[in-house]
Amino acid sequence: MERIQTDILISGGGIAGMCAAAAFGSKGYNVICVDPMPDNAAAKPDLRTTAFLQPSKLVLEAAGLWDRLGPIAAPLQVMRIVDAGGENPEPRVIKDFDAADLSDAPFGWNFTNMAIRDVALARIKSLPNVDFRAGTSTQRITTRESEALVALSDGTKVSAKLQIGADGRNSPTRNAVGISVKTTRYGQKAIVFCVSHAAPHNNISTEVHRSGGPFTLVPLPDRDGKFMSAIVWMDHGPACAERMRLPDDEFAAAATERSARINGELTIEGPRAIWPIITQVAEHMSYERTALIAEAAHVVPPIGAQGLNMSLGDLRVLLEMAEKHPLGSREMLDAYEKARHPEVRLRATGIDMLNRASMAGAQGLRDMRSGLLNTFYAIGPIRKTLMKAGLGIK
Ligand SMILES: Cc1cc2nc3c(=O)[nH]c(=O)nc-3n(C[C@H](O)[C@H](O)[C@H](O)COP(=O)(O)OP(=O)(O)OC[C@H]3O[C@@H](n4cnc5c(N)ncnc54)[C@H](O)[C@@H]3O)c2cc1C
Repeated sequence: MERIQTDILISGGGIAGMCAAAAFGSKGYNVICVDPMPDNAAAKPDLRTTAFLQPSKLVLEAAGLWDRLGPIAAPLQVMRIVDAGGENPEPRVIKDFDAADLSDAPFGWNFTNMAIRDVALARIKSLPNVDFRAGTSTQRITTRESEALVALSDGTKVSAKLQIGADGRNSPTRNAVGISVKTTRYGQKAIVFCVSHAAPHNNISTEVHRSGGPFTLVPLPDRDGKFMSAIVWMDHGPACAERMRLPDDEFAAAATERSARINGELTIEGPRAIWPIITQVAEHMSYERTALIAEAAHVVPPIGAQGLNMSLGDLRVLLEMAEKHPLGSREMLDAYEKARHPEVRLRATGIDMLNRASMAGAQGLRDMRSGLLNTFYAIGPIRKTLMKAGLGIK
């Protein structure tokens, strides 16, 4: 059995794990990153798109990823909230939150998950101190004060100063060290797909609220002269399951109606995928020689582009703590827990409340929701505070 010593072992080569490998690798640490997928992008096509908000750009720059991501970014200049919760599925309140109210920069930039993976993988492969092992998983984990000992499925035994659990919502790392989670289920799912549409999106990301959860249109770059958006359509599970069975033309008609025709007629481009929606927060984000990041630590409904941005927030703090303390030491991990866990819990609670408001079915509750949107929007300081809170800036 091969035995290797390394600075950092990352369990999980999803987007968060790969960003962590690129970021710590760029800082000169020796990193091993493993993922059971034989080839991440090809084996598991991911139709989702991710909007990286302003603070995430700094992390992506530090990871050496922004140079390649910048040229393919679709900027998010305006976040539009539409309430279509009246008797008919038509817009009755439309409010534009414009990034120009805060600064010259857009709120963020949107990418397909597959493009992010390609760029991250290329960066990792260019770093001689990062060993990315596709087709390999973490199997047995033991920790002691001086190291984390991890047995890999390829027979290697790794001794790491720090192990990072970036292995998703069912995190084997989290389970191995015995950290529990608190999970909230909504009976809700999200259908994700791409569309072309009649009207241009003008770089506006739009959330249309009616009932069952938001219908979000996220701008994508034009393709073959067509205006394109990525859609996340959240609703009760059975309604989503039924829609997944519809032929493309009927599904497109239903999606156009649910979008309140905000970008005109929608045409389905490519396949649909369905995702369960939960809120889940780990009781702790650290353990002896162990840090949890991303969905291993927190899962939130896809509202306001928060999920992966929270993950890059974890990574930013972990990088900061590694500079201030010995790598993987108790001081480093305690400082990470203290800086990150309360913020994650607070954000998860806020997103949970937004999701419940968007799910509201009763007409009275929907009317109250649109009233609140009008009120908050009308008060300039509250509007700006909400925008900053969404971005995670002070
Ligand atoms: C519909 C939808 C839309 C979203 N939109 C946005 C958005 O606009 N903005 C945003 O910020 N976030 C968004 N999110 C959230 C974002 O997509 C997730 O936060 C992110 O993809 C999760 O990344 P991850 O790397 O933590 O998890 P995953 O992508 O699940 O990666 C975990 C990896 O761990 C690997 N693994 C499992 N077991 C092992 C093992 N034993 N050893 C090693 N590896 C293992 C898995 O193979 C997998 O590759 C969205 C989510 C959904 C559902």
